[in-house]
Amino acid sequence: MNTFDALGLSDVLLQSINDMGFETPSEVQAKAIPLLLDQETDLVALAQTGTGKTAAFGFPMLQKIDVDSRITQGLILSPTRELCLQITQELKNYAKYIKGLNVVAIYGGASINDQAKNVKRGAQILVATPGRMQDMLRRGMINLSQVEYCVLDEADEMRNMGFYEDITSILANTPNDKSTWLFSATMPKEVAVIAREFMYQPQEITVGHKNAGTKNVSHEYYQVSGRDRYPALKRLADAHPDIFSVVFCRTKRDTQRVAEKLIEDGYNAGALHGDLSQNQRDMVMKAFRNKQIQMLVATDVAARGIDVDNVTHVINYQLPDEIETYTHRSGRTGRAGNKGVSMIIVTQSESRKIKTIEKIIQAKITPKKIPTGMDICATQLFHLANKIHQTEVNNDIDAYLPKVNEVLADLSKEELIQRMVSVEFARFHNYYKNAKDLNSNASSAESSSGKTKPNKKDSTRFFINIGARDDYNWMTLKDFLKATLELDQEEVFHVDVMDGFSFFNTPNAHREKVISTFDFFELDGRPINVEISEKREKSKGGKKKKGRPHRKFDQSDNGFFNDKKKGKKRKAGKGDKPSGFGRRKRR
Ligand code: ADP
Ligand code: MG
Repeated sequence: MNTFDALGLSDVLLQSINDMGFETPSEVQAKAIPLLLDQETDLVALAQTGTGKTAAFGFPMLQKIDVDSRITQGLILSPTRELCLQITQELKNYAKYIKGLNVVAIYGGASINDQAKNVKRGAQILVATPGRMQDMLRRGMINLSQVEYCVLDEADEMRNMGFYEDITSILANTPNDKSTWLFSATMPKEVAVIAREFMYQPQEITVGHKNAGTKNVSHEYYQVSGRDRYPALKRLADAHPDIFSVVFCRTKRDTQRVAEKLIEDGYNAGALHGDLSQNQRDMVMKAFRNKQIQMLVATDVAARGIDVDNVTHVINYQLPDEIETYTHRSGRTGRAGNKGVSMIIVTQSESRKIKTIEKIIQAKITPKKIPTGMDICATQLFHLANKIHQTEVNNDIDAYLPKVNEVLADLSKEELIQRMVSVEFARFHNYYKNAKDLNSNASSAESSSGKTKPNKKDSTRFFINIGARDDYNWMTLKDFLKATLELDQEEVFHVDVMDGFSFFNTPNAHREKVISTFDFFELDGRPINVEISEKREKSKGGKKKKGRPHRKFDQSDNGFFNDKKKGKKRKAGKGDKPSGFGRRKRR
């Protein structure tokens, strides 16, 4: 017996609801299901993410279509491929006991002919991304003339992606008297326009506040300086050893870079963004669902609507351009009754936005401190202890145990624990023992304590891609470097400014700091590149490269500099893959 019984759903649906373990309808389900079963009406339903909107339209649609007919009667439009596949899968789960029902996913990046074949076999319901649907309509592969129910899911995302025209032309292929159901988490004015243009006297269901975030999510923010974003991310991850998270970046480039860095640094991370092939995206999503990936670094568009259970944390590596998008991000966690945390990494200049977000989500965002190196070591230590405690003993080791016991015989239990834990703990401890405080008000005080006396011989020469052309002279460039790197007057020297680039030295001790500071650095929207000048590299006997020192930089037909120029041009045009990408020195 469960409370879905009262909604008027058929036995076959109730049976699968039971199988899925749904006990109580969510609010949007309780409101939408009886209404849609009972009436032929247009509907606008607003409910926060993770409240079960898919079932709110899925159940009524499945019940209302005629399974004996093979004609397409239901059409669901969704903004992304991932979402499209997810809805299709959900519907298939719901329809487990409905014989003869076919749901087909229509999305770009996979074989159009295979999809057409599946449709031809008789699909009562199509779940489609607008682009591919348009394509198939143009080629006459799909007939929407008998559609009775049309769903616009995650409608607020459709507007961002210029789907408006696609929707217009797709819906032109459907009958006028169909019912249109629009589901959305938020109601920006563009969605109101869609509702007005495509719907006839829609009923409206609103669950909670319009544009409100979910109650299961708590919100935290961490203020750091811009260059500490990445180290801060790592600390947040290290402080939560069991983290299973979506990390949001603003651009595809940052998404790719952050994911690459994390992987390089030994995290189970993956990137999800629109420049990846369909196949790559599928693989990443599969690995994430299987929890092989603990940190999914994603753009807003790519991660929109994704429903993966048990995401523990959403990390806003950068805030979204549109503050409303925050709701969608934080909605990736705290799903299906679980608790979740949404973390925001901000710089001082962005911290005003926190107030704005608080207003939109109508919830408090708590200021928090990035854990110190020692906090993390402690967390990891207890994590390890718990892990040992919970580990299931593998009996394959039995044969070796007597010998192992012999080796360890002279150690007391206390000593044994001490040593065992040290083995694992040492890794974090070595990394963090001299780590600085990343909280932005503290960082300047710390860095001066780690100061090194400059000495030309023990210094590193760097190349930087700004110069006289950018209105720098040696003095202003030195000031810029000092301020950015938080170094003293005498710690930046031999500053030589050329037209399009420059060189400078810092003590070897600051090498890592210089590289990591400029790793994701942008100046007025332009990526700044800093690399160790080859002369030094060579004299250290590190890398064998042919040619005179600096050759790479001063020949204008050579890769690096050329690339940069192209990059600039491209940047102004399309959001293409940036130049210099992947050229970063591996460390
Ligand atoms: P939304 O579209 O509102 O963001 P989804 O439809 O993706 O939410 O559902 C979120 C999750 O909640 C899914 O995993 C879904 O299976 C689950 N779910 C939906 N309805 C219920 C329910 N009544 N009880 C328990 N879990 C549910
Ligand atoms: Mg949804």
